Amino acid sequence: MIVMKFGGSSVANAERIKHVASVIQAYAEKRPVVVLSAMGDTTDHLLEAADLAVKGTVDIAKVEKLHFDTAKELEVDIPAVKELLGELKTLLTGISMLHELTKRTRDYLVSFGERLSVRMMAAYLSKQGTQAKFYDAWDIGMVSDSNYMNAELLDEVWDNIPKALGAYKNGTQKEIPIVTGFIAKDKNGIITTLGRGGSDLSATMIGSAMGAEEIQTWKDVDGILTTDPRIVKEARPVHEVTYEEAQELAMFGSQVLHPRSMIPCRKTGTPVRVKNSYNISSEGSVIVEKHSGPTPRVTAITSVKNVKLIDIQSNNMFGACGFLAHVFNQFLKWNVSVDVIATSEVSISLTVNGKADLTGLIEDLQKGADVTVRSDKAIVTLICDAAHSSSILADAFSALRNESINVQMISQGASKVNISMLVDSDETNKVVQILHTALFK
Ligand code: ASP
Ligand code: MG
Repeated sequence: MIVMKFGGSSVANAERIKHVASVIQAYAEKRPVVVLSAMGDTTDHLLEAADLAVKGTVDIAKVEKLHFDTAKELEVDIPAVKELLGELKTLLTGISMLHELTKRTRDYLVSFGERLSVRMMAAYLSKQGTQAKFYDAWDIGMVSDSNYMNAELLDEVWDNIPKALGAYKNGTQKEIPIVTGFIAKDKNGIITTLGRGGSDLSATMIGSAMGAEEIQTWKDVDGILTTDPRIVKEARPVHEVTYEEAQELAMFGSQVLHPRSMIPCRKTGTPVRVKNSYNISSEGSVIVEKHSGPTPRVTAITSVKNVKLIDIQSNNMFGACGFLAHVFNQFLKWNVSVDVIATSEVSISLTVNGKADLTGLIEDLQKGADVTVRSDKAIVTLICDAAHSSSILADAFSALRNESINVQMISQGASKVNISMLVDSDETNKVVQILHTALFK
């Protein structure tokens, strides 16, 4: 048994749905459970519709047209699609009358995207003669906490899923389950979502709980690449990464997987394979607990733009011991998350997301320190074997020096699989190119 997960762009229109259906059919013997995202940009369109509704306008034309056109082109008649779109319109009308949108309502609203896409796919597969059955996440026991928009799955999910899909696993059920990614319900039966990109987590959760042979996430590129191919055209596939490396990749800008999605499969050791739906026979990249051979010196290079650098220089108000505690308490108080840190006894440099609102935080920090904030920075991260950091850094810095690039901060994560550097945002692509040439000879 395997899990096959397809993201929004893989099911963006009728043509792509047909293609995905053919990929599913090619793996029918492996007994797949299929996990789907909403079609194309439907989640974004639903969120836009929500914002409009708050202002008093009900408009779901984009979402409606996409789903009606697709059903027509696939030649499937799905009453459930019409019903769901009707329910969606009623909800938006309610929001437009109240001029109010809670997180809880927002989750209910975006859940329509995934619910629509699984119905579409199941109907098309059945029409093609492949027995399939759609499931909303809660039908297979996806229960979460009530932290709307970023809910966490509860432990009982580990028992619920194999129970709900038991008949499929033991072979009595023939219909391939087509399950919604991204959504769940809390204990009170209220719909929740697992955070943007959360379908990956749904897939790894199902695969791990079912004891799947493999969890496959399907993309339009050859798996995980050494870096973003839009920045470096020589980027090449990486055959194997560890769960830890994959998690770091996700946190530092690679679009490959949702950062939280590694949690369930790390518990069971279930391999995750990233595959290309336009190159089925290629192995793709596999994510596993440990490298099968020696750990490669450098696995990949990622970058995140729009980062702010905060420099905090103590003015001795708190003494050497209290300084760090004071600083981090302020970040906690203002709920600003820190990405990369470098520190000495009396000063700290750290980075935060460029979009974070820093007004109150900076004022508080200035009570005991000199603070400077610099915008338009970027973090370039080497996912690498930090045991060889000296040799990696020697190569990296000699290449950067030749191009007169000045790195403004450097930090080697305790996870021992990443080294991050801070550079000016407008130099990011150049830095990634230089490092890729220097480190992937
Ligand atoms: N449809 C959701 C999103 O766009 C979940 C996902 O695609 O994984 O974030
Ligand atoms: Mg999506």
